[in-house]
Amino acid sequence: MSLSCSNIKTTDKNGDLNFLNQEATQWRDVPKKPIEYAPQSKTIMLSGGLTIMQDKLIQSALNSLGINYIALPNPDFASFQTGKAFGNKAQCNPTYFTVGNLVKYLQNLRDNEGISAKEIVKRYIYITAGGCGPCRFGMYITEYKKALRDAGFDGFRITSFEHNKGIFQGDEIDDNLLNFTPKFFVTLVKAVIIGDILNILGYKIRPYEVEVGSTNRALEECRDIVSNAFISHKNLTRAMYRCRGILSKVKLNRLQPKAKVMVMGEFWAAMTEGDGNYNLHKFLEAEGAECIPQPIINRLMLSLWEAKTDLKSKEELATDSTNHIDFSSAKKRLLLKAGEFGVKSYFYLYAKAIGLHEYKIIDIEELAKLSKEYYTLECEGGEGFLEVAHLLESIEKKLAHLVISIKPFGCMPSSAVSDGIQPLITNRFSSANFLSIETSGEGSANFYSRVQMALFKAKQLAKDEFEEIEQPRHLPEKINNYLYQPNSDAIGTASKLLKSVVNLHL
Ligand code: SF4
Repeated sequence: MSLSCSNIKTTDKNGDLNFLNQEATQWRDVPKKPIEYAPQSKTIMLSGGLTIMQDKLIQSALNSLGINYIALPNPDFASFQTGKAFGNKAQCNPTYFTVGNLVKYLQNLRDNEGISAKEIVKRYIYITAGGCGPCRFGMYITEYKKALRDAGFDGFRITSFEHNKGIFQGDEIDDNLLNFTPKFFVTLVKAVIIGDILNILGYKIRPYEVEVGSTNRALEECRDIVSNAFISHKNLTRAMYRCRGILSKVKLNRLQPKAKVMVMGEFWAAMTEGDGNYNLHKFLEAEGAECIPQPIINRLMLSLWEAKTDLKSKEELATDSTNHIDFSSAKKRLLLKAGEFGVKSYFYLYAKAIGLHEYKIIDIEELAKLSKEYYTLECEGGEGFLEVAHLLESIEKKLAHLVISIKPFGCMPSSAVSDGIQPLITNRFSSANFLSIETSGEGSANFYSRVQMALFKAKQLAKDEFEEIEQPRHLPEKINNYLYQPNSDAIGTASKLLKSVVNLHL
């Protein structure tokens, strides 16, 4: 043994097994000293972590209800490092990014704005999505609290609505303080839906813009219009119609054969737009691709489907053992149906107003049928069967030249389960171009090079598809207007447009 090794002393507690004889006590995650929290009028709600558009719209929407709500800035690499510094080891990186972002924000309040940690703990509250897992998701709130405690904010409150108990439930919510009324949720859902629509359009328009940056400028203008409509309680449909005029002014050249890339995978990794996924969408666009993003409404539809399926299984169990009619379950079923109807109606209303005509909200029932041969539908966690379903749907309906499934390193439902099934699908369907890729927060070089390799084939496919189409002699002007969204059996946008013109002249 070297001298340096023999000098290492074991800690006093090392090897101490006395705890084995101690009486077990219930562990509770409560602050060391009791805290007198601020009343509702002085409480500030914090949240964030969706897309940049949605975070901003949600802030305006909730402010319009008189709620003191602030959307945190988009989490960046510094957030991740802060999260790692205060968090436990081996967490999923959305935990590090999210809690690190929160700690960074609170540290700024304390160190630069002069608000004491005690005051911050009293007045601020963080709201997030929670759930019981079955993966590490079940530990998120406990992990957040641990990091906050170690960062000097012991007793900081975190509350959640649970993603896997229907839509809007949670046992940690203090109803009196947060006042989660139906109006709150309807307003929140409207902001999320409008954010989805603007994001979807942004991804369709930006790759073809003639002047770099013009789409983002137009989207910012649209965001301000919708935000003002929320704050001044004006008609949101009209606001979306005004946005149509703004987006129409973005000059486009849509006859560029670009690879269409579906980005799916673990919810947060696929949705975030920043260092959390190495700016994947931006990178793909810079490399000459068009992204198909995963709107948040997909996750909402899956949650509703899971809630309905759970209810059905419980009802079947109940009818086996009792003859009583359970009215509470009928009421819940009705609420879920109404919720789904409401979400879809608002989506199509706003989509129509802004001119997103051809978009269809995912049909979870259809996707479940498609994937049940490969994936046990009852197996929940992460995106459940959706990742497998997305790949199958993309092959069957020719939706993309490349499907990327992105997930945090070691994601249990995504890396361990879905990615175990995807090779079977890619073996059965030779046309599948699929890439599974993990993010760890650090080391982007390998990540980008793998994406570039898969993209090379996708670009070639897009080019070949385009060149095979006969070039029409006359191209109508509308071809470069985003409001013209024809459907044809081509994958790429340019090929779809060309085919539609050729078909017109047949
Ligand atoms: S879905 Fe994956 S990344 Fe998200 S909490 Fe579960 S294991 Fe972690």
